[in-house]
Amino acid sequence: MKSDCIFCKIANKEIKSEIVYEDKDMLAFKDIDPKAPVHFLFIPKKHITTLNDILPEDGALLGNMFLKMKETALKHGISSDGYRIVANCNKNGGQAVLHLHFHLLGGRSLAWPPG
Ligand code: 5GP
Ligand code: ZN
Repeated sequence: MKSDCIFCKIANKEIKSEIVYEDKDMLAFKDIDPKAPVHFLFIPKKHITTLNDILPEDGALLGNMFLKMKETALKHGISSDGYRIVANCNKNGGQAVLHLHFHLLGGRSLAWPPG
């Protein structure tokens, strides 16, 4: 728990969010400013600042997060049409919140690369 981190506060239920999945290690909630009909954020409950900060011992956690993202995509009906999982890193990656998170986006066509 990093006391000035907004996603730690969400994980700690100090800030309300619309939770779509939770277990002891991770939380998934609706993005407050959705970019697609389905836009969820998956975060580890422990504070990891960026992708640069993941450690070998985080491998199982990250693997479980991907399994849960896949299951959540299926549950919300976006598996067969497809979806995108995004993790932004630092300034050039466009990371606004410095607590590692994965965007799960679907429910519309997601053109790439951006114009
Ligand atoms: P980033 O740009 O860091 O990859 O993405 C941060 C995401 O967090 C953005 O899509 C933004 O809309 C979302 N976000 C920021 N603050 C909050 C919040 O307080 N609650 C929720 N649910 N989402 C947030
Ligand atoms: Zn945090």
